[in-house]
Amino acid sequence: MKYEYVVVGAGIAGLTMAERIANVLGKKVLVIEKRNHIGGNIYDSYNEDGILIHNYGPHIFHTNDKEVYDYLSRFTKWNDFWHRVLTCVDGNLIPMPITLETINALYHTDFTPEQMEQFLKEKAVDIPEIKTSKDVALSKVGEEIYEKFFENYTKKQWGLDPALIDTSVISRIPVRYNRDTRYFTDRYQGMPKHGYTKMCEAMAASPNIRLLLNTDYKEVIEDISYDMLIYTGPTDYFYDYRYGKMAYRSLDFVFETHDTEEYQPAPVVNYPNDYDFTRITEFKKLTGQKHAKTTILKEFPKGEGEPYYPFPTKEYREQFARYQEEMKKETKVRFLGRLAEYRYYNMDAVVRSALNLFESLRG
Ligand code: FAD
Ligand code: UDP
Repeated sequence: MKYEYVVVGAGIAGLTMAERIANVLGKKVLVIEKRNHIGGNIYDSYNEDGILIHNYGPHIFHTNDKEVYDYLSRFTKWNDFWHRVLTCVDGNLIPMPITLETINALYHTDFTPEQMEQFLKEKAVDIPEIKTSKDVALSKVGEEIYEKFFENYTKKQWGLDPALIDTSVISRIPVRYNRDTRYFTDRYQGMPKHGYTKMCEAMAASPNIRLLLNTDYKEVIEDISYDMLIYTGPTDYFYDYRYGKMAYRSLDFVFETHDTEEYQPAPVVNYPNDYDFTRITEFKKLTGQKHAKTTILKEFPKGEGEPYYPFPTKEYREQFARYQEEMKKETKVRFLGRLAEYRYYNMDAVVRSALNLFESLRG
């Protein structure tokens, strides 16, 4: 079999590349995917009760990158959606991230933004050089809030103390001196009107795209000749673990359907200090679907299993640097996406990376 372009992985990274190759270059492209569906981790589907769920955890699209938003908007319309999260602290459900509402609810105060700033300034720990996620939190909010909101959630999610984790992880969560309780403040936010899978199907609709599902690329790649392979799977697997296995954090997803219209007061409720799961998502509150029943998801972090999150520590960054030396030498292979680039990317960053790669291949 001969294809000019082969893409491994039908997640948002692989599909963006395939779509561009098929529709802009007008070339045939083979997409090889080991799962039985496209979409990678943004895949969603209707469960047996007819409720739309996100099979791999809650996905909310948000970006400040207009080009990425415009690009995806060719394949879907959006439902306007501002994501909100509550977190269970001291038995109360309190807005997350840390805003004026959070502080006032936690301390039963009625601070103004200026008073909140002053209050946190007094609590914050002076750390001359911020090196870890723990430093990030302590320097912004101090010991008490760190312990209540961040320490145990992070230990559960990563199996590591925040003092061992890169600054980038807890830095994802802002502190705001106002009443804006939205989880994200990006300019463009939304949920695909008919779901992510429908959006992905529209991306893969070109007759130039051939999809091979249920296939690990290693089973077939010897029989395919290509000029360029775009690889979006785990890089250590590509190199047969030459420099050892990379760590990825995995999750067990446990879905429950309840015979009640509503389960909780927000789309996502975090449980930093109770239970073995990190958070509960109620899908109808993300999708806006109306239904007499409701489906929720509990996420239980674990070390082994499907790779979902690259591991945010110095040790693994250094290990990955050895793979990167090999990746640079490839002339017929490009590495793209959360797994292959070993980066804690959101969807929009993956699409950005794919659009950039496409432009560089075009020359
Ligand atoms: P993937 O979606 O992982 O796709 C890679 C594909 O390659 C997979 O389908 C895999 O089966 C396939 N593959 C791997 N190895 C092989 C092989 N050997 N042969 C063939 N195929 C192979 N981002 C947001 O922007 N907002 C959110 O709210 C958000 N929430 C998230 C929640 C969770 C629980 C998780 C895990 C991620 C979340 N993300 C979110 C991140 C988002 O899922 C990723 O940025 C995005 O899906 C990555 O796309 P990708 O194509 O790089 O990787
Ligand atoms: N985090 C936390 N407490 C929370 C929410 C998040 O400590 O209530 C930390 C935790 O380390 C987590 C990181 O912030 O891994 C990023 O959170 P985000 O909600 O972005 O995680 P994701 O949705 O990517 O799993």
